[in-house]
Amino acid sequence: MYFNLVRNYVLDKLSMKRLKQLMLLGTQDMVKSNAEKLKITNLVALVTCVIASLYTSYFYFVLGQNKLTLLNIGFVFSYGITLYLSAKGFVCAAKSWFLSVLMVHIFILTLVVFTPAAGFHFYYLLLPPGVLLLFEDKDNLAKNTLMFTGVVLFFICDLLGNSSPLIALTADAEKALFLSTIFVVMVEVYFIMLIFSRAIARNEARLQELATLDVLTGVKNRRSFIELGEALIARTQRYQRPLTLLLFDVDHFKRINDTHGHLIGDKALKIIAQTLEKNLRSSDTIARYGGEEFVVLLPETKSGEAIKLANHLIDKIQQVNINIDQDTSIHCTVSIGLAEFNEATPSLMALVHCADIALYQAKKLGRNQVVTYTDRFEDSIKTC
Ligand code: GH3
Ligand code: MG
Ligand code: MG
Repeated sequence: MYFNLVRNYVLDKLSMKRLKQLMLLGTQDMVKSNAEKLKITNLVALVTCVIASLYTSYFYFVLGQNKLTLLNIGFVFSYGITLYLSAKGFVCAAKSWFLSVLMVHIFILTLVVFTPAAGFHFYYLLLPPGVLLLFEDKDNLAKNTLMFTGVVLFFICDLLGNSSPLIALTADAEKALFLSTIFVVMVEVYFIMLIFSRAIARNEARLQELATLDVLTGVKNRRSFIELGEALIARTQRYQRPLTLLLFDVDHFKRINDTHGHLIGDKALKIIAQTLEKNLRSSDTIARYGGEEFVVLLPETKSGEAIKLANHLIDKIQQVNINIDQDTSIHCTVSIGLAEFNEATPSLMALVHCADIALYQAKKLGRNQVVTYTDRFEDSIKTC
């Protein structure tokens, strides 16, 4: 029961919300990737404060080293200043300050408190990945200066040695400390690299999304449709499977723009795309082919089933309300050209071309309907 009381008290005081607030210090109005870097800086500064505080208690209560305790309190305070600088908006200064304090701390631990045999100066190995993780691209001067200083301090520590350390350790204790430093450095490098690799994966996914999706409607764009469509055609050809393409064009869309404005036109396009997504299978490919034209590829579907589906989509689209304001809404209709894959349409573009001819017929016949492509249309176009 007491344990629960203490645990709840600590969790309340150190609530995730408060921790998050501390991590977010100074990140307002920043570009996402830079805000992420400052968040990591704040978190690392906080964690270092906690670890340095634990060392302070150890020096005071276990080793009884008053001077060392005071020195460490000074370092805890100095690490804390990083958060103050972040909060004040001195972003580069906060990072430079944190790493400088860390370097001085490592230097003192190596050459005053212990000896280089304890291996504290191997923490300088964290500087190259650390500066790249924390600093923004433009902070070249700070990055290079800190990196160079870290290299110099590492060699000074290693070559200078310390014959009268504040705390003399046995050879075994020194070895244990050395190994623990190497262990911590390896773990930290792993986590730094993990952060980098996750950021790369996230950015790749975002770029992929930007390159393949239509910004307005969220369905696939024309480029991605062509890529997917060509792969699908190749599979369809190899396994002799049915495949049908529907080409949609919104009827009198210019009128909607002219009467209600482009924003309502955009809204209509989004709603039509959503209606298509809602009423199709996940294996069907929906894309925005042009301004107010959509294209749908239906694998494993013959033209008979596709006509039924197209009529169903025509009904759904004309039923949906496009709200202009609280009291008024309008309705859109679409015309559809349908073409089934066969020897006469051996490529994606040939299929689109046939569907386009059928769509032209649908418009001619009065719109708001589906027309299936036949080669008779070619003759009627030629006579035109
Ligand atoms: P039809 O029934 O013959 O297809 O007539 P229509 O008015 O739909 O055809 P037209 O090609 O004359 O007009 C298409 C309009 O679509 C013109 C263009 O300004 C509009 N448009 C194209 N892309 C967008 C867009 O992203 N947003 C909006 N709001 N309008 C767009
Ligand atoms: Mg059009
Ligand atoms: Mg149109």
